[in-house]
Amino acid sequence: MIPKRDRLKLPRQDPVTRPAKERIGDFREIYALLDAERAIEQANRCILCKHEPCVVACPAENHIPQWLELCADGKFMDAAKLSHETSNLPEICGRICPQDRLCEKDCVIGIKGDPVPIGAIEAFINEWAFANGYRPELNPERPQHSEKVAVVGAGPAGLACAEELAQRGYAVTVFDAYKEPGGLLIYGIPGFKLEKEVVERRIGFIRNLGVKFVCNRRIGKDITLTDLFNQGFAAIYLGHGAMQPKVPGLPGDDIEGIYEAIPFLIRNNLREPYIDSQQTPRLNLQGKEVVVLGGGDTAMDCVRTSARLQAKSVTCVYRRDEENMPGSRREIKAAKEEGVKFLFYTQPLRFQADSQGKLQSITCQKMQLGEPDDEGRRRPLPMANSEFTIRSNFAIIAFGFDPTSITGKGDRQLETSSWQGLKVDENFMTSWPGVFAGGDNVRGADLIVTAMADGRKAAGGIDRYLHPKEK
Ligand SMILES: Cc1cc2nc3c(=O)[nH]c(=O)nc-3n(C[C@H](O)[C@H](O)[C@H](O)COP(=O)(O)OP(=O)(O)OC[C@H]3O[C@@H](n4cnc5c(N)ncnc54)[C@H](O)[C@@H]3O)c2cc1C
Repeated sequence: MIPKRDRLKLPRQDPVTRPAKERIGDFREIYALLDAERAIEQANRCILCKHEPCVVACPAENHIPQWLELCADGKFMDAAKLSHETSNLPEICGRICPQDRLCEKDCVIGIKGDPVPIGAIEAFINEWAFANGYRPELNPERPQHSEKVAVVGAGPAGLACAEELAQRGYAVTVFDAYKEPGGLLIYGIPGFKLEKEVVERRIGFIRNLGVKFVCNRRIGKDITLTDLFNQGFAAIYLGHGAMQPKVPGLPGDDIEGIYEAIPFLIRNNLREPYIDSQQTPRLNLQGKEVVVLGGGDTAMDCVRTSARLQAKSVTCVYRRDEENMPGSRREIKAAKEEGVKFLFYTQPLRFQADSQGKLQSITCQKMQLGEPDDEGRRRPLPMANSEFTIRSNFAIIAFGFDPTSITGKGDRQLETSSWQGLKVDENFMTSWPGVFAGGDNVRGADLIVTAMADGRKAAGGIDRYLHPKEK
C-alpha cells in the first residue's frame, strides 16, 4: 500500500482509447480495459477519505472506497464481489455511467488534481472476475416463497428488480415488448459505448438465477395488468421506461429526411437477432449534412452514429452552452474527436424542403441564458432578430422522452404527474396496491444507475408488501 501522501503524486491514467479515425470505421467499444498493473496503481490513488463523498454521489451507494482498497491490494475477485453487493450491473455502469457528474465529480483528490478513474476500475475488476470464473449466484440462505412476481420491462430497472426478487426467493417472470431483453441497453445505447455481448452476458447471468423472460409481449395491449393478476402473479413491477419521444411540433417536421432518435439508433446500431436487417438495412449517410437537434446522451449517440455512417458533416444543435449539456463530458469529448461540430445557443424553429419535398435547411434562432429554473439550470431565452438558416438534408430529433401509459382495458388507472410519470410511495408502490414501479417511467428519462437503484429498492418494497409481518 502506497502511503497517503505519496498517492496524490500519482497521475490519473484512463483506459487506452482507440484513435478516432480507426473507431469511426466500426461500432465496437472505443475504450480498452485498464490492465491489472494500472488498475492497482489507480486504485491506490484513493486516499480513503472519511466522508466518502463518492458513495454519497452514487445513486446505488456503491462501496467504492472499499472495493478500490481491495483492488489496490490486488484482490480483484473480492473487489468484484463487493461491487455486486450494491449493483446488479457493475460492469455496465463502470463503462457508461456519467461518472464525471456522479462519483468522480465529488472525489476529494479531484479538488486539486484529477479524480480516481472509478468507472474504469469498476469495469476492470468485474471483467477480471468474469474472466476468472466469477458468476452471480443465488444466496443459499434465501427464503422460499410461493408467490410469483411479474416484472414488466427488461431494461436496467426491470433486470435489477427481477434479480433482487429471485435473491429474495420469489419466482420471477419478466415481460418485454421487444424481441430481446435489455431495454435501452440494447435498443438505444450504441455498441461503441456498450457492446451488445456485455449486455447479453449479464442477461445470461440473470437467467441462470432462475428468472424467466417472455419477449414480444406488450403489456396493456397483448395482456393487461389485470390479466397478470388473474394469472396468479401476486405483485407486478413496472419498469417500462420512458420511450415516447418529446415532439417539438415544429413546422415542417414531417418532411422526408427527418428521423426520430430511437428508430435511427435501432436501425443503424443493431443487427440480428435484434432486428431484421434485410428489412431495415443500415443507412449510408455519404453526402449528407446531418444535423442532430438536442444535447443529451441520445443526441451524442446520434451524432457519433452518423459519423460512423460516413456523413459528409455532422452538427449538433443545442440551445444552451457546452457547460450546460446534460450528457457526460466524456461522450462530448469523444464526439468532438470524431469530427462532430457543435452549434451552441441555437434553437430550431422550422424545417424547409427542396422542390422534391426533401429536407433542405433548418431555420434556427440564437439563444441566451436567463435566470435559473426550478432545477437550478439557467433558462435558455430567444434573442430578438437572430434568425438564421443552416443547410441540412438529414436531421435527427433527440429532445428526450416521456413515459407512456401501460394500463389496458379493465385495468385501474395509475396516478401520474403532469408529464405522465408514475407516482409511487416510499416503497415504490403505485396508486394500485400490488403494482410497483421505478426507473425512467417514474423519474422521466434519467440514467442506468438510477433505474437500477430503483429496481433494487422496489424489490424490497414488494417483499415487504407480500410478507409484511416478517420484515
Ligand atoms: C440513446 C440513449 C443513450 C443513453 N445513454 C446513457 C448512458 O450513456 N449512460 C446512462 O447512464 N444512461 C444512458 N441513457 C439512459 C438510460 O438508458 C435509461 O435511463 C435507462 O435505460 C432506463 O432504464 P429503464 O429500465 O427504466 O427503462 P428502459 O431501459 O427504457 O427499458 C424499458 C423496457 O420496457 C419495455 N416496455 C415498454 N413498454 C412496455 C410494455 N407496454 N409492455 C412490455 N414491455 C414494455 C421496453 O421494450 C424496454 O425494454 C441513455 C438513453 C438513451 C435513449
